[in-house]
Amino acid sequence: MDKQPLLFELGKPGRIGVDLPALDVPAQKDLIPAAYRRQTPAALPELSQIELVRHYVQLSQRNFGVDNGFYPLGSCTMKYDPKINEQVARYPGLSQLHPLQDEETVQGALEILYEIEQALKEISGMDGFTLEPAAGAHGELTGLKLIRAYHRDRGDLARTKVIVPDSAHGTNPASTAMCGMEVVQIVSKPDGAIDLEALKAAVGKDTAAFMLTNPNTLGLFESQIEAIAKIVHDAGGLLYYDGANSNAIMGMVRPGDMGYDVCHLNLHKTFATPHGGGGPGSGPIGVKKALLPFLPNPRVACKDGHYSWVNSPKSIGKVQAFNGNFGIIVRAYAYILSMGGTGLKQASMDAVLNANYLKAILAQAYDSPFDRYCMHECVLTSKKQQPYGIHTLDIAKRLLDYGYHPPTIYFPLIVNEAIMIEPTETETKETLDGFAAAMEKIAAEAAATPELVHTAPHNTVVRRLDETLAARKPVVRWTAPEK
Ligand SMILES: *Cc1c(COP(=O)(O)O)cnc(C)c1O
Repeated sequence: MDKQPLLFELGKPGRIGVDLPALDVPAQKDLIPAAYRRQTPAALPELSQIELVRHYVQLSQRNFGVDNGFYPLGSCTMKYDPKINEQVARYPGLSQLHPLQDEETVQGALEILYEIEQALKEISGMDGFTLEPAAGAHGELTGLKLIRAYHRDRGDLARTKVIVPDSAHGTNPASTAMCGMEVVQIVSKPDGAIDLEALKAAVGKDTAAFMLTNPNTLGLFESQIEAIAKIVHDAGGLLYYDGANSNAIMGMVRPGDMGYDVCHLNLHKTFATPHGGGGPGSGPIGVKKALLPFLPNPRVACKDGHYSWVNSPKSIGKVQAFNGNFGIIVRAYAYILSMGGTGLKQASMDAVLNANYLKAILAQAYDSPFDRYCMHECVLTSKKQQPYGIHTLDIAKRLLDYGYHPPTIYFPLIVNEAIMIEPTETETKETLDGFAAAMEKIAAEAAATPELVHTAPHNTVVRRLDETLAARKPVVRWTAPEK
């Protein structure tokens, strides 16, 4: 495909895309002192409207999102976001608010924040939430700060270590380190479950918390969770729930009932708003009663139908400018209300059913390392394709040719050449069958014409990229060609 010209390469001097309205205030000159101003005007492109529209529409068509195809990215829950959530978030009464508006003028917005907190409490079994964190990882950092504040408040300064299983999402050890605490990793058993003996050996007077995703990143439910909670609590530590992907458990089990003390939920994965691209997210943190006083300030309180901001003297302080990503919170609230309790439970059941359906089909052509039912995602490997020189990366790249976004690959780290598929509950049987057929075709190609797979993708705008170079030396700024 042709290289698309950059915006700066389009247009001609004198072309105009919009007519600005006439100035209706006195013109102010030289508001900015000359020393701070550009001496020569910036060389901005001058474009007609149609050039501009085509430029951005073409760029958007080079992108891939849930609105144009199946996106089975494991551990990321790229599910379809019903358009009603978008509509509600765009209501001017919500989208045009200013965060510094007086409480009395934003009672409706405060009610939404208050009510979604009640819903999240009900769903998770926790006693209170902060809605400030802007992502799952941000929630983890906040949760760990809360745990530290809790221990310090009791005068217990020795608890500086956070235990993390080797199957954990990379953000868990990263958040721990960022919080200035020490990571202690424990090795999982071959079946992917926590090794209770290893956990017992790891806990002690220095344990601040144990961070555990359940279902874990292998898509497997940790059935020994009560025994795990007891080991951690008996040692004086707290149990942290990474609930980034909770659409296997909504309406089925609750972290609060499993014995967790702190939990984060990703509103942008579990409760609508597909995750990815670094867009706005929301990672509320829920806590049990003993940790409520430490939650970030302020939180919304309700008294006789009147909503107000309240501050706690023991709070760890703010973790985000203003009050979190309100638009994402509104989408999640619209989702929760339109689904209702039974709808959320149905979503969990469908997410698990879809993952098991794909796993059952694909376990013929691909290696399926865990021989048990999975939760909302399943892990396969390319072991059966490797004798032909075909690896997980090749399979992922070939999927692009068939119009599918690849699953998560090479994660979880403890599975060699992992292919991690999360179909989500929003996909139809026809979509799942189409994806399974493409995966089966790729397995057949790997055996018959491995070169075709090894050199994929063939039909995309760009071929295989140097991802290391792109990450280490990203080119994010246009530079004028040498004249
Ligand atoms: C996505 C994810 C996170 C981090 O969430 P972000 O919003 O990307 O920061 C943490 N843990 C698990 C298991 C996840 O899937």
